[in-house]
Amino acid sequence: MRALERILSEKGYLDPSVLDRIVETYETRIGPHVGAGIVARAWVDPIFRASLLTDGTAAVRALGHDLRRTGHLTAVENTSEVHNLVVCTLCSCYPHDILGLPPVWYKSAPYRSRAVKDPRGMLAEMGVTIPHDVVVRVWDSTAEMRYLVVPERPAGTEGWREDELARLVTRDSMIGAGLIGRPAGYR
Ligand code: FE
Repeated sequence: MRALERILSEKGYLDPSVLDRIVETYETRIGPHVGAGIVARAWVDPIFRASLLTDGTAAVRALGHDLRRTGHLTAVENTSEVHNLVVCTLCSCYPHDILGLPPVWYKSAPYRSRAVKDPRGMLAEMGVTIPHDVVVRVWDSTAEMRYLVVPERPAGTEGWREDELARLVTRDSMIGAGLIGRPAGYR
């Protein structure tokens, strides 16, 4: 990558300062904290939650987030009856604008095939046990449509502020490959 970067810069095809800005954006501005803020808002604001589940693209744009790289966004909600899991079976489509860079396993062939063949078994191996009475629904991302999982709000967080709730939301939980446990200190 470094050799490629140097050659492209020397030939004038690439402005290194632009590259720095892109790296900085992904390190500080774009990341799972953006998605976590969206989920926390959905937990505290029923009107926002309804609009997010109806038209994820419009709802997220209304919060001021740029979805240029994501295209259309569909938000799917985990409940006591349904657990949602997101994959891109073809390649690695992912809502970069709100979740940042995907985890390495998201692009791996085993994840991409097993997420559709045996999602429950694969999740169990990832440490996520889905009860048998909960339906596992798998969403296959494309370049045109990407997905955000709204995880279940954990018990014991009644009355929490939005920013406190956002800190509980993990990247994996917004892919459906993780669950949010009860917060520490919950009795
Ligand atoms: Fe893809």
